[in-house]
Amino acid sequence: MKIQFLGTGTSQGVPVIACDCIVCKSTDYKDKRLRSSILIEVEGRHIIVDTGPDFRYQMLRANIQHLDAILMTHSHKDHIAGLDDVRAFNYKQNESISIYTNEPTLEALKREFYYAFSPLKYPGVPQLDLEEIHAGQPLFLFGHEIMPIEVMHYKMPVLGFRIGNFAYITDAKSVTLESRQLLEGVDVLVVNALQEMPHISHFTLDEALAFINDVGPKEAYLTHISHRFGTNDYIQSKLPSNVFVAYDQLTITVDSSY
Ligand SMILES: [Zn+2]
Ligand SMILES: [Zn+2]
Ligand SMILES: [Zn+2]
Repeated sequence: MKIQFLGTGTSQGVPVIACDCIVCKSTDYKDKRLRSSILIEVEGRHIIVDTGPDFRYQMLRANIQHLDAILMTHSHKDHIAGLDDVRAFNYKQNESISIYTNEPTLEALKREFYYAFSPLKYPGVPQLDLEEIHAGQPLFLFGHEIMPIEVMHYKMPVLGFRIGNFAYITDAKSVTLESRQLLEGVDVLVVNALQEMPHISHFTLDEALAFINDVGPKEAYLTHISHRFGTNDYIQSKLPSNVFVAYDQLTITVDSSY
């Protein structure tokens, strides 16, 4: 199983529009962060987690030729805003594409992209099948078990996903014991870490490191990074030897068996 980080930035991305801070002015390619998303490639199938505002460019940049399924974490705009551009895959593949997510996110998608779900569709709208999933109840895609894991984003439930020995958690501020148990034995854990300063709805660096320590993966990657966190080099200098800052277009290989 291959994981490609399509975006590793927080909701505004990095650089932030009209910001002249040291991070936004950095010339390091690792400091250019599109909105957070990953591509999971398993036996030639492409599963994407979230379709934020940069979805179109992320597909072009990574030269993605087909899309098989979408997993959605939650309904914030930085995770769903690019959904309309799934049309390109609908046309090419001549099929609709399924979105797997929780009930509140499905309801939000029906509001935000009403035209794609109305009974009388305008020609050319995206063809999307909404599939409700539940935390703790696995779904099976292309022969692989995917376990949805609920985390809390202030008061909003967000889904993380575990496939085999890999797990992706974004936009978490707290994680229950029950959800942590579903992460037992993962080798590679991706988790959000916004910045060092406290934030109401996102893990800080310390909170992310404590969570990683508790779950105990062999390796962990930080994502959903703010420009306020510092440069990629600065963040990496703060991390233990088995924790890495993710950056856009980083690809990692994970053993996909349980
Ligand atoms: Zn977000
Ligand atoms: Zn900045
Ligand atoms: Zn969010």
